[in-house]
Parts: sequence; C-alpha cells; structure tokens
Amino acid sequence: MMNYNALLIMMISGLALVGFGINFLLKRQKEQKLQAIKALSFDDNERAYLLKLAHYKNLSVEEKKKIENSILLFIHTKEFRGVNLEVTDEMKIIIAFYACLLLLHIKTDNCYDALTTIIIYPHAVVTKTIKSFGGIYTKEKFFIEGESANNTVVISWHEAKKEAYHLRHNNVIIHEFAHEIDFMDGAVDGVPPIEKSKYNEWTHVLFQEFNKLKTVALKNRYWGKYKLLGSYAATNEAEFFAVATERFFESPESLKKNFPELYDELEGFYHRNQ
Ligand SMILES: [Zn+2]
Repeated sequence: MMNYNALLIMMISGLALVGFGINFLLKRQKEQKLQAIKALSFDDNERAYLLKLAHYKNLSVEEKKKIENSILLFIHTKEFRGVNLEVTDEMKIIIAFYACLLLLHIKTDNCYDALTTIIIYPHAVVTKTIKSFGGIYTKEKFFIEGESANNTVVISWHEAKKEAYHLRHNNVIIHEFAHEIDFMDGAVDGVPPIEKSKYNEWTHVLFQEFNKLKTVALKNRYWGKYKLLGSYAATNEAEFFAVATERFFESPESLKKNFPELYDELEGFYHRNQ
C-alpha cells in the first residue's frame, strides 16, 4: 500500500507538470499571436490617418516601418473600450501612434506591457470632489481630458483629435503615455526608467525647474519663460515630467530655447534629436 508521503509527492509532481504544461501552451499561444501580428500591415485607408500627422511625415522610411509595426502590436495587444461612442480605426491608430512615438528610440521591448486597456470618452470627463474648508463643504468640478492609472489609460477623443492633427503645446495622448513610461519603474514620480548613472543629473535638472515653476505658480505674478510649462506642471513631479514631455515633442524649439538643460535631459532619455 502506498504511504501518505509518496502519494503527496505524486500529487505535487502531477500538479507541477500540469502547471508547466499550461504555462508552455500559454507561451506558445502568445508567440503565435505575436508572429501573426508581425505579418499584418496597414491598408491605404488606415495609413491615411498616419499621413495626416506631421510627426509621422517627419519620420524616415526606417522609422515609419518601425513605428507601424509597433502600432499594430499595440492595437492587437490592448483592449480599446468606448464610453458612449464606437471605437474607430482612426482612434486606435492615432492613440497607438503617439504612444509608440514616445518609445520609438528608447531601447526596450516593453510596449507598455503593464497597460491592458484604453478607455475613450467622447469629451472631457467631469469629476466632482467634495472639499471641506473649516467645516464648510463645497463641491468642485474638474474636467479631465485624460487619465492614467497602472493598467488603464483614459482619453477624451474630442481633445485628443484636436491636438493630434495640429502641432500645439499640448497633446493629451503624449501626456498620458508619459505617465505610463514614468510608471515603468514602478513609481509615478517624474523619474522614468533611466540609467543609474544619470539619476542624479536627471533629478537635479528636472526638480530644480519644477521647484522654480512651483514658486512662480504660487506667486502668480511674473511667469516669464515658465508660461511655456504652465501651472498644471507645478502640480507635482510626475505632472511636470508629463507636461515637459508634451513640450519636448510638440514645441521642441521653444523648450530648447527656454530650458536647454531640461531639453537635453529629455533628449538623452527619448534619444530623439528634434
Ligand atoms: Zn497628468
């Protein structure tokens, strides 16, 4: 008769084998899916959306090929959900384009791996909070054009589309995906996954400018060059990095002229010579 210990060992070994088998199958399924995505390409209608984007038109032939592959991977590995709207190819392609543009020259295989879902609203989302001032409660309304939290990005399509086709200072898609990049090292703190040797310089330059901006924003008097970054960037270090990334991609010349050190840090991180 088999003793209890031998039976237990057999059961554990059996479970381990089943686990190994499931893992192997899932890995193979994933690889097959990735191979199938690699074989895809854009048709003329889909590429037409990209051809309207100044950022796409400025890319070299190799960069266009690379970013198109990344966009297809992004679109086929993330879930797009519309709230009170039907998600279109245009929405998927434009959102994926800007997300992939940020990673285009960063050496990484991470295509926002932690991100699973993109939720698209037709317009800015109104959120309400209740604040207490000395026992008096007031309701405050906030309009949110986008939001990013661990595995989900929220985008307001009205704002995103307006900014996507015109080079302005702002770009909500770039902003939210900068937060996602910031989160890749596990913390949303204005320090994305940079090389250890560059950490001190990065924090010195970014946080110095952040603190100066905060002082200006509090005084609310003479903004000077800090007008380019705006008061929202003074919220915290993470918002500062997201806004600075928007300016780096959308108005690089102004950023370089007014904040050369900040520009250099971002150039060093995104490896993108504007
Ligand atoms: Zn933000």
